[in-house]
Amino acid sequence: MTSAPLLRIEGLQVNYGPVRALHDVALAVHPGEVVAVLGANGAGKTTLLRTISGLLRPVAGAIWLAGRDLTRLPPHTIAAAGLAHVPEGRGILGRMTVLENLRMGAYTRRDGEIDRDIAELCERFPILHERRHQPAGLLSGGQQQMLAIARAWMARPQLIMLDEPSLGLAPRMVAEVFRMIVAIRERAAVLLVEQNTRAALRLADRGYVLELGRVVLHGPARDLLTDEGLVRAYLGRRAAQGGAA
Ligand code: ATP
Repeated sequence: MTSAPLLRIEGLQVNYGPVRALHDVALAVHPGEVVAVLGANGAGKTTLLRTISGLLRPVAGAIWLAGRDLTRLPPHTIAAAGLAHVPEGRGILGRMTVLENLRMGAYTRRDGEIDRDIAELCERFPILHERRHQPAGLLSGGQQQMLAIARAWMARPQLIMLDEPSLGLAPRMVAEVFRMIVAIRERAAVLLVEQNTRAALRLADRGYVLELGRVVLHGPARDLLTDEGLVRAYLGRRAAQGGAA
């Protein structure tokens, strides 16, 4: 990878009181890449995303986006710098309609292309069009996840971070959510936290494996996907046997 990283993290250390949740984490996402962050429950994946977003303060280390040091900036400044975060649980506004949620995603934009972007999303993901006047809270879990990703995309970020987008969804909706990730990578880089390891590695360019707050493995996704010993050791037996872990 020769381009300068879009997101660069060095020496990141995060504590919850006396407990260290991230140890000396280094990671990079290059323009146009999908990078998967994998690991068991409690490995530190959510902590990593929340720290990048400015919701948690690291005790050491630094985070740069397109060369700008984000480490001590507040979340709204980090968002305005081009970083969108779709948290686990989605965070959509249930009483607002699908269209209102999409417009909310674009609230920092001053360009005249917001309606065009909404039209594009509705064309590529017809369920958003069909449900556009419904309160978002009435959508199914998978549809809400799609809306949450679409809303993040409406900000036209440089990088979208997705925390467990397939969690709890039926297989058909998991496929739709992954199709949406393929669509957003045309315009933004993606940092994807997933327990669905095999599906995430099929989509990603590179992956990082976290264990107890440390990066224990990283490399091209196809290498992680085919290294059965590593998959078994870090990602669970089902993944090694060919199932979605
Ligand atoms: P999961 O998939 O279960 O969300 P994760 O890989 O995202 O796991 P984190 O949620 O980042 O892991 O948690 C990393 C570690 O930090 C765990 O040991 C967890 O118990 C601990 N932790 C997370 N949030 C807090 C908190 N608010 N206070 C104290 N400890 C926390």
